[in-house]
Amino acid sequence: MPTFRAARGTRDLLPTETPLWSRLERLADDLATRYGYRRIETPMLEQAAVFERGVGEVTDIVEKELFRITPRSEEAESWALRPEPTAGIVRAYVQHGMQTWPQPVKLAMTGPMFRYDRPQAGRYRQFWQFDIEAIGDPGPGVDAEIVELGSRFYRDAGLTGVEVLLNSIGDPVCRPAYVAELTAYYRDHAADLPAVERDRLERNVLRLLDSKDPAMTAINAAAPRITDRLCDACAEHFASVREHLDALDVPYRLEPGLVRGLDYYTRTAFEYYVAGREGQQQALGGGGRYDGLVELLGGKPTPGIGFGIGLDRLVLALQEQGARGVADPAVPTVVVVGADPADTVARLRIATELRAAGVAARAELARRKLGKQLESAARDQAHFAVILGDELTAGDVQLRDLPAGTQKVVPLADLAREVARSHAAHRHGTSEGPATGD
Ligand code: AMP
Repeated sequence: MPTFRAARGTRDLLPTETPLWSRLERLADDLATRYGYRRIETPMLEQAAVFERGVGEVTDIVEKELFRITPRSEEAESWALRPEPTAGIVRAYVQHGMQTWPQPVKLAMTGPMFRYDRPQAGRYRQFWQFDIEAIGDPGPGVDAEIVELGSRFYRDAGLTGVEVLLNSIGDPVCRPAYVAELTAYYRDHAADLPAVERDRLERNVLRLLDSKDPAMTAINAAAPRITDRLCDACAEHFASVREHLDALDVPYRLEPGLVRGLDYYTRTAFEYYVAGREGQQQALGGGGRYDGLVELLGGKPTPGIGFGIGLDRLVLALQEQGARGVADPAVPTVVVVGADPADTVARLRIATELRAAGVAARAELARRKLGKQLESAARDQAHFAVILGDELTAGDVQLRDLPAGTQKVVPLADLAREVARSHAAHRHGTSEGPATGD
């Protein structure tokens, strides 16, 4: 008999976990709205060229990790599952003529991304990102706004000790000379480089700077720094980003080795880490400015900046910090039970009326004795059991407060109101005082 399992590197999020995920998604939505970022949804599939061009051919994401989709016919275009959100959002910006909208266009999206990576803790083949993009604003103010928004997201999510790492990686004016200088530097040390890094050296030398290989630590520490080689415009931009961050009281650490893996980044680059996470090697989230990307994808030159915050790693980090679980919102307030084991019609009807009135209610639909029905209501952690018995002919039911162990007769017509009132009093920790009439 075959035993099927979720595909390697993918996971099921079970109802025991989803309340936390829902809370984080609501927080992401709420913050995006407060900061003026409007929701966009792009397809999970794009033409592969969107990523080949937008992310860059010589990146791990495209070279090794792109989930390519084999076309079914000769003429079909070549597709890929999105490994990151920015290229698809910028494709949409160009396709829908958003450059004619008032600029900047500020967009937010939360959804799954796909990378054909070697699965391990905190690294999956399907993972979720909360993504923010401001397209059409050259900064530097918006750079700081976005870095601050990410920091606030972690803080409001309840994660402590998040550190912002910040760098500028220059632009097409100053970076080529720096790249040449860096290449020469590493060539001088070629004999000491691990094979992987020697291979990268001629193809994407900036990546060597954020190598996690211990053999690279000393070589990288002595490497020339981009921040010492910025052109005047980039240096001024970087200084102003820092000034805005200081004014917003966002602490950050300058990290000259932070280059981000993607070709399209210019100037501001940043990542979020949490202190104490094993190895400190996995960023919780990151982003940067991509002033060349809109043009690369066929639009007119337009600056942009954004971040992608991984929700999977955030959830792991919250769990490692022992964050309190989130109450399961699906716990019913009321379970409707009945003395007649066969009468599920009346139970379902009353539960339906309670739900229509806004109360979370479950009808006990198993044909079993009242005692068993009440046991299952208690196991559900319901606040009330509504018990249908002989009083029903007179239009009344018994309302039992399960934790308090008290019970009273309530007319059906008043049931929803009575439940709402007692439930609110209970949740606010007051005794069941008199109705306030509102
Ligand atoms: P990146 O674009 O690689 O910097 O990714 C941005 C964020 O997405 C990372 O900081 C992670 O939180 C998350 N992320 C990237 N790749 C994965 C993955 N394979 N599994 C889980 N989360 C990931």
